[in-house]
Amino acid sequence: MVGIGPHDGDRTLTPKRQTTDPNQTARLEMVRYQIAARGIQDKRVLDAMAKVPRERFIPERFQEQAFADRALPIAEGQTISQPFMVASMTAQLQIQPHHRILEIGTGSGYQTTILSRLAREVVTIERIGSLQKKAREMLATLNVSNVTFQVGDGTAGWVEHAPYDGIIVTAGAPTIPDPLVEQLTDGGVLVLPVGGEKEQVLILVTRKRNKIVRKKLFPCRFVKLIGQHGWQ
Ligand code: SAH
Repeated sequence: MVGIGPHDGDRTLTPKRQTTDPNQTARLEMVRYQIAARGIQDKRVLDAMAKVPRERFIPERFQEQAFADRALPIAEGQTISQPFMVASMTAQLQIQPHHRILEIGTGSGYQTTILSRLAREVVTIERIGSLQKKAREMLATLNVSNVTFQVGDGTAGWVEHAPYDGIIVTAGAPTIPDPLVEQLTDGGVLVLPVGGEKEQVLILVTRKRNKIVRKKLFPCRFVKLIGQHGWQ
């Protein structure tokens, strides 16, 4: 028990010392009300979402909405996904600490950072050089050191680093790109939005030996996956 000292009467007048920063409080609320409340229970995913500073990946003019329940514009007409979507796709990958993960669509690098906390190694590919550069710089600032970056068309995967325990595509594809399925380990999973230019369905593809199982998860909206095995 804390003893009652001579200055105790002052307590109500002195503002309580701030022990957490407001962004941390906002992140914890985001995790609680937007993610855990919607059924995502994976503790490692929730922990990563609570710790990665989402606000650092959001452009200045959208700072007030950094933790809002929606996707937000980044540069080059692209978007950073809604927090729930990031958590949900990440949970589908069931990442173990020894896993190697491939991400297509680095964008802001937010999803990449979440993945980097859960996997041993992350390989990420982005089509637009300026976005990749910015993401790479941000991850360096955050001392993330287990990510390999590549600029190019991710629809062909990246054979040199294959196979992957998990592959995540954060742009909408017209069909499931064959090279990505081929670059999965036995038991590996691929999560990606598939469908039209404006609306897609999130699909989970699991590879078991040479058997490929596809499962539809839920409707979603992503920017287009542009490339050889994507939109032209
Ligand atoms: N995961 C990102 C969301 C990025 S939006 C984040 O957390 O911020 C989707 C990204 O996919 C865009 O940056 C877009 O340029 C990129 N993209 C589209 N087609 C691609 C392709 N074929 N290969 C790699 N990146 C691609």
